[in-house]
Amino acid sequence: MPNQLPTTYGQRLRIGYGWDSHEFKRGIPLKIGGVTLDHPRGLGGHSDGDVLLHAITDALLGAVAAPDIGSLFPPSDPQWKGADSAVFLREALQRVEAAGYAIANLDSTLILSEPKIGPHAGAIRARVSELLSIPPDAIGLKAKTPEGMGTDNAAIAHVTVLLEQRRNAAPQGRRSPRKQPR
Ligand SMILES: [Zn+2]
Repeated sequence: MPNQLPTTYGQRLRIGYGWDSHEFKRGIPLKIGGVTLDHPRGLGGHSDGDVLLHAITDALLGAVAAPDIGSLFPPSDPQWKGADSAVFLREALQRVEAAGYAIANLDSTLILSEPKIGPHAGAIRARVSELLSIPPDAIGLKAKTPEGMGTDNAAIAHVTVLLEQRRNAAPQGRRSPRKQPR
């Protein structure tokens, strides 16, 4: 796995994919997409257990071939215990911007038996929109129940993201050799 950002781009578009899962546990808050949902069980594990923000983070990191979330923020490191996952997302976004890209859109699917995501979808998309500085209509959010999967005690998130090269912000030496018309 590369330890540094690639230095040669030249692709106008890049795609990223991320997925994550966390186990439900009683007595902790449930955070999905940076929003705390009213529910008796939350998601345990690494940081605040925000399965959607983790999958978005990995999709962004993957799109610029950066190390994944577990390499950058090891679960074994006590400083990330209970951490706000927005911190991870911010780091991934900075790496995307440093590589000369901006998010075109993202799409996500949550797989969980409960709670129902529909009533919270607007709030989750608004929060993710704010965290990523992209409009809510660039954020797809779908939720399914895990029919026949035997994963009722877990929440799973799949995310794809499309990045577009920023026309005027590419650092020196990474521009296309053809001059832009003025
Ligand atoms: Zn996670």
